[in-house]
Amino acid sequence: MKLDTRAMRHLAAEDWRVLTAVEMGSKNHEIVPTPLIEKLARLRGGVSGVHRSISALAKVGLIARVKEAKYDGYRLTYGGLDYLALHTHASRKDVYSVGNRIGVGKESDIMVVADHSGKQCVLKIHRLGRISFRTVKSNRDYLKNRNAQSWMYLSRLAAMKEYAFMNALHEEGFPVPTPLAQSRHTIVMSLVDAFPLRQISEVPDPASLYADLISLILRLASHGLIHGDYNEFNILVKEIKSTAEDGTESIVLEPVIIDFPQMVSMEHVNAEMYFDRDVNCIKRFFLRRFHFTPSQPGPFFKDAKKTVGKGGLKRLDATVEASGFTKKMLKDLEAAIKDKKTDKEGQEGANEDDDDDYDEDSDEDSEEEEGEEEEGDDEDEGEGRQEALLSGGLSEGL
Ligand code: ADP
Ligand code: MG
Repeated sequence: MKLDTRAMRHLAAEDWRVLTAVEMGSKNHEIVPTPLIEKLARLRGGVSGVHRSISALAKVGLIARVKEAKYDGYRLTYGGLDYLALHTHASRKDVYSVGNRIGVGKESDIMVVADHSGKQCVLKIHRLGRISFRTVKSNRDYLKNRNAQSWMYLSRLAAMKEYAFMNALHEEGFPVPTPLAQSRHTIVMSLVDAFPLRQISEVPDPASLYADLISLILRLASHGLIHGDYNEFNILVKEIKSTAEDGTESIVLEPVIIDFPQMVSMEHVNAEMYFDRDVNCIKRFFLRRFHFTPSQPGPFFKDAKKTVGKGGLKRLDATVEASGFTKKMLKDLEAAIKDKKTDKEGQEGANEDDDDDYDEDSDEDSEEEEGEEEEGDDEDEGEGRQEALLSGGLSEGL
């Protein structure tokens, strides 16, 4: 499942209404019956107009026909959800055009987009459930029982949670991208001009970068938070050149943290495990990449725990609970994300020296057998690959 915006400009206003109607109907129906789509779309042209739009949308894969014994109907595809999100971003003037894909996470697509002024930003599209079924292990039965609709729901939750955290962290002055907009399973944020730590082979002073990264873990903890996936892919390192008065040049490294859907509270039942895992991840990477071993042990969870909220520090772990998530939502999301983490670790362990641990394109997801797969999927998308998806502006024809 890849973002393909080519059909976007050809959709008429009625088509958008019908697509929105299918999305609305999906809230209560796994398969949205055609009469309900007609009712929700309320097109002036009447039923025939709706049918025309339904065919147009199904033809480009934004909705998919599902034949059931009881009734026939349609469901929204990930492609349809992408279009609705982009449509919203475009009408709010957050996104004007879509450019290259710069990152393919296991369960996300990262695209460079531009707003109306031409400023480049990043669009992150959450795609939970994309994990290839090749890698499904026996303990992941629940995964098989999920349908595309519930994965889309979880992807929306992941985007909402990530956006809530990015906002809270940004407001508190943490080095994170600037959150700009959120719609459905997508987020728009500022583009960080930096490489992931993973791609950096040498640093002038490993000890100082290590200290910065550990102090970020501790600073998060003091606000009640654990990143939960604090690894070399989720830490971008900005290189800032500075020239001293005597003309000597030096490079200051500034880490920026990304990727927040899995963040947990310091009060979480497994908080200590998550905290230690984040710390050890950095230690292991610094040893392996820079042959650096810190002179001191720790930091330890029990010490970090004592600093939570100290001196009136804002508790950011309360932010997400306060932003409309129910316990069940958070539990579902946690289960889905835990799975992603385990899978990544399994991969990482299997090929430690491999330069690209991402599953390049796990397109064999549940959607495939439902005929949603696009044709001509031949590209190999590593980071930095330039792939123009849309030359014109998104707002055309919206
Ligand atoms: P995932 O949840 O799939 O791991 P991430 O949010 O970690 O997604 O993003 C995947 C990759 O995309 C990152 O490792 C990084 O290279 C790139 N990336 C993500 N967000 C940004 C950003 N705001 N600026 C620059 N690069 C980014
Ligand atoms: Mg990541």
